[in-house]
Amino acid sequence: MGATGCMTFSWDDGHPSDMRVGELLDRHGLNGTFYIPMLARTGTMSVGRLRDLSRRFEMGGHTLHHLSLTKLSNPLAESEIHDGKTWMEQVTGQTCSMFCPPAGQYERKHLRMIAKAGFIGVRTIELLSLGYPRRACGLAIMPTTIQAKDHAPTTIIKHLLKRISLRGLWSYIVRGGVAGQWEPLARRMLERTAQIGGVFHLWGHSWELESEEQWSRLERILQLMGQMKGQLPCLSNGEICRRWGASSETLRNSQNLTRFAPPA
Ligand SMILES: [Zn+2]
Repeated sequence: MGATGCMTFSWDDGHPSDMRVGELLDRHGLNGTFYIPMLARTGTMSVGRLRDLSRRFEMGGHTLHHLSLTKLSNPLAESEIHDGKTWMEQVTGQTCSMFCPPAGQYERKHLRMIAKAGFIGVRTIELLSLGYPRRACGLAIMPTTIQAKDHAPTTIIKHLLKRISLRGLWSYIVRGGVAGQWEPLARRMLERTAQIGGVFHLWGHSWELESEEQWSRLERILQLMGQMKGQLPCLSNGEICRRWGASSETLRNSQNLTRFAPPA
């Protein structure tokens, strides 16, 4: 069986610069999901712009006020999850089916709240995975591959050790991540997806792309991904969860995909 893979993006927080990201994705014929709260400290785009973006891209829930679920009481966490979805659906007139917990922080009880609110999938901040979504509490849980941000190598290593992802850690070192720059790492992971299949998932915050260097890095990656989309279709997060987030076969494939072969 040949390797089947796909690509996706997600952008968090709804900063006005998301419009620029949307234009770039459009230019290269790429797809993805924007996770947007009604209010965030970093600033959010106007409702009119959000509606405009929602005509071309999937919009996901990110709580109503961009609050970390683990710091809220249960009733407040539940209403933040639910009300963020209701608000988004009122603005866009479309079903909001994907959710991303602010700061990537959630516990198992929050997954039950997210499922109860009617979402089908959750995007996490797990890095360096090419895995398909896995099932938990009736939801498809999506890991990611690369964040469009230079992390200090120690931050990534700490992050991977915290979730005991030794495979991710190993892959990070082998793929040259120790240099700390996201663009070359993204290129290597993209090549790997073309070889072995899986989901290449690039995510970020447009407010973090503010330096010219970051925008030009993003443009170079988007150009490459635009060239590869014949081989690796580019889908929204929700499309991937609907297509691959349900079966146990997916889970088996997913486990194989995170088990990287040693370098030749
Ligand atoms: Zn956020």
